[in-house]
Amino acid sequence: MEIKVTVKPDLIGTISTILESNSFEDFDKYAVFYPDNETCRLLLEKTRWGEKPVCPFCGHDKKYDLWGGKMYKCASCRRKYHVLIGTPFENTKIPLNKWFWAIHAYCNKGILSSQLARDLHITQKSAWWIINRIRGNLKPHEIKKRLQLLYKINEDIQDQINEIIL
Ligand SMILES: [Zn+2]
Repeated sequence: MEIKVTVKPDLIGTISTILESNSFEDFDKYAVFYPDNETCRLLLEKTRWGEKPVCPFCGHDKKYDLWGGKMYKCASCRRKYHVLIGTPFENTKIPLNKWFWAIHAYCNKGILSSQLARDLHITQKSAWWIINRIRGNLKPHEIKKRLQLLYKINEDIQDQINEIIL
């Protein structure tokens, strides 16, 4: 099935800006506000569509609710869809609240995959994959800003390396 209506390119940047206003210290504090997949699914719907879901296949906004509004059926092309279709979170088994923490931690503070793995109780390989997917969906100037944050974490190590090299 071909997706015709693309997600706005700054979706991840927008989510990071929303979460940034709370400046959570750690995952546990964040999880009080974003405890589960459903909370974040609703936030993603608002971020992506505003008040009205739009069919990603044909762009029509008339739909029928399925599964209590977790899924929709387009009144025009009759296809079923949900908010994850066409987003970087499509086809992953990692809950959205973990994705959103990864976005917050990566975009607003800078985080290494080893730390993200500990925060989310996932493997470092999964954490690395998530960070790469987030980075792949950011605009170049945003990536530069995030990398600078990440380097800040390792500033002391960098200084030591420089001392050895120079
Ligand atoms: Zn449609």
